[in-house]
Amino acid sequence: MEGKWMSSQSQSTNFHLLAKIKEFTRSIVTDLSNGQSPVILIHRFRNHCTSPNSNCFCGFNLPCGKDVLTLCRESHVHRIDVMLRVLLIVQKLLQENRHCSKRDIYYMHPSVFSDQSVVDHAINDICVLMQCSRHNLNVVSAGKGLVMGWIRFFEGKRLFDCISSPNKVHPIPVHVEEVKDIISVAHYILVVEKESVFERLANDQFCSANHCIVITGRGYPDIPTRRFLRLLVEDLHLPAYCLVDCDPYGFDILTTYRFGSMQMAYDTKHLRVPEIQWLGAYPSDAERYFIPKQCLLSLTAEDKRKLEAMLLRCYLQRDVPQWRLELKMMLEKGVKFEIEALSVHALSFLSMSYLPSKIQGKMII
Ligand SMILES: [Zn+2]
Repeated sequence: MEGKWMSSQSQSTNFHLLAKIKEFTRSIVTDLSNGQSPVILIHRFRNHCTSPNSNCFCGFNLPCGKDVLTLCRESHVHRIDVMLRVLLIVQKLLQENRHCSKRDIYYMHPSVFSDQSVVDHAINDICVLMQCSRHNLNVVSAGKGLVMGWIRFFEGKRLFDCISSPNKVHPIPVHVEEVKDIISVAHYILVVEKESVFERLANDQFCSANHCIVITGRGYPDIPTRRFLRLLVEDLHLPAYCLVDCDPYGFDILTTYRFGSMQMAYDTKHLRVPEIQWLGAYPSDAERYFIPKQCLLSLTAEDKRKLEAMLLRCYLQRDVPQWRLELKMMLEKGVKFEIEALSVHALSFLSMSYLPSKIQGKMII
């Protein structure tokens, strides 16, 4: 756990949250002292459904049902117990202006929590109940995102001077709400799925040559990476392009950036980046960039199942029908490939040919 400097905005958010927590626990105590079971309503959210042609409201930040928790059901008793224990920890964090991770919380009552996912679920329940984001609870990730390029900013009082050497790697700040004074002369933001590709670009001095900002979430992006990207897109009004492997996991990561994840659907409006476009790699790139057959891998049975399920997501048909067509092609061709397969031509093919041809030729969907 760590204490930290705090802006007046964070102080006021803390104050309101502490008041809400107090009100919530007081109502539970009142019910119990009257011999009644408390009734706790927790709205359910989803960022997509599986009816591609329906007139649904997924992604519009509206709840799609609710759970009604009472002490009359055994499974609810445990869920309420865990939630109240986590809430007590959160209350202490807010009172003392300290931060900790979900993992730290798990280790405070491992025998009760039994599994990390139980804690994660409770944190989501609390965010929905208190109508706030996870970072408002002072629960933060260790941070795994990286950034480099033509940008300079402060996180609180700490300066991130990436511009002075644009190919040097910096960690993405964890306390995104404290990021300010962003200055950039970049032309666009490139988001890459993998650290290996990010390092390839750093090695090739890609940012110096192309006046851009490059970000990676190192796989599925964590919350700070998504919030930071969103902040940059909103603040700098720059186009954002996403480069992922041409496989079901790469595509799922792409959709996480653009549409958010199901787990955090209650906070989609703060986490998703609707402006992000898909730069590659597409199934159709295999022919366009002459990737030899031996670099293509057959889809596994699990890949096919994942693709079939993804094709049903309502937001694809509604918002990005071209993405859906490429996804369909992946399933029809039955093959996938990694971004590194482009190196079959030359190690610098990605930074010297592929990316410039895509960006200048506007081959982005
Ligand atoms: Zn839907």
